Amino acid sequence: MERIDALKPIVPAADAEVEAAKKLLAAAQAMVTAETGRLNGEVARVRAELEAVEKELAADVREKYERVVKHKGADGMAPVEGQSCGGCFQQITGNMLSDLMLGRVVMCRSCGRLLYVPESSTPA
Ligand SMILES: [Zn+2]
Repeated sequence: MERIDALKPIVPAADAEVEAAKKLLAAAQAMVTAETGRLNGEVARVRAELEAVEKELAADVREKYERVVKHKGADGMAPVEGQSCGGCFQQITGNMLSDLMLGRVVMCRSCGRLLYVPESSTPA
């Protein structure tokens, strides 16, 4: 009995601690909710930016294509032959080749033709 009596004063203090912890938890949850809202907004903003950049990129590629074709006609594009431009036979760089493999638009630095990888060639 003596032990229980000794513990009695501790219980209200523990209750208060639980209350304080609950308040902290609620505050933390509110912060998380607010942060989630902020991050969702950020994601939407970045997505919109990406879309804008994609549109710009497409326009840029189209412009390059149109400019080259306007000047060179059907000769404005050249297949990559081995590691060379099929139009002027200048060697292309490894970076250009890997860009091509990634589906990027690459222009020959020497003759300005748009390069493409012929379907028959197999990527290394
Ligand atoms: Zn070339």
